[in-house]
Amino acid sequence: SPVFHLLGLDIDNITMEEAVSIMRKHLEQKKQCSIFFVNPDCLNKMVDDPDYFSTLQKGDYIFPDGIGLSIAGKLLQTPLRENINGTDMLPYLCTMASEDEKSLFLLGSKPGVAKTAAEKIKEAFDVTIAGTANGYFDHDTQSDTIIETINNSGASILLVAFGAPRQEKWIARYRGHLKPEILIGVGGLFDFYSG
Ligand code: UDP
Repeated sequence: SPVFHLLGLDIDNITMEEAVSIMRKHLEQKKQCSIFFVNPDCLNKMVDDPDYFSTLQKGDYIFPDGIGLSIAGKLLQTPLRENINGTDMLPYLCTMASEDEKSLFLLGSKPGVAKTAAEKIKEAFDVTIAGTANGYFDHDTQSDTIIETINNSGASILLVAFGAPRQEKWIARYRGHLKPEILIGVGGLFDFYSG
């Protein structure tokens, strides 16, 4: 599928509909993928953080988040077909999950936030939330326990909200231990939904 080359990244230049069918295909084929969003703030961080840059490069999909990327696309004569950010994608993701009887796990944000977001999301989109956990644990020593909880929940889709680049690095580091097929870094999404 088409890409938009920017600062050494291949950003997927796709529509929301295509994004959903990509995710559906990974679920059907039980083939794991990571999905990261980038906005201008992420690009700024990336320039000063080579580890974040290589993590993004190694991710399976990068979706363009926000008007800043659209402007960059116009300036570089690669118009972006659609803005794909986590907040806009969530309803489509949940509808797809609900239709395919797949469940979500919400990991990250302050204690209680993911749980409140889960209740709101369940109500709004009639989707199964397999579990939640907050993002304030020791990512070096306590990730194994959290991963076991995620894997035992049976979730197919994992949303990770530690903020960028922490969430992307965590997904890249632990993806081999995680059972969910779809791993997405979602930044402040749970704060947004619980507020
Ligand atoms: N967060 C977390 N664990 C941490 C640090 C941050 O779960 O160790 C959460 C924080 O509570 C917030 C989310 O990460 O819900 C995203 O934060 P922010 O909005 O700063 O992310 P960005 O929009 O910069 O990606």
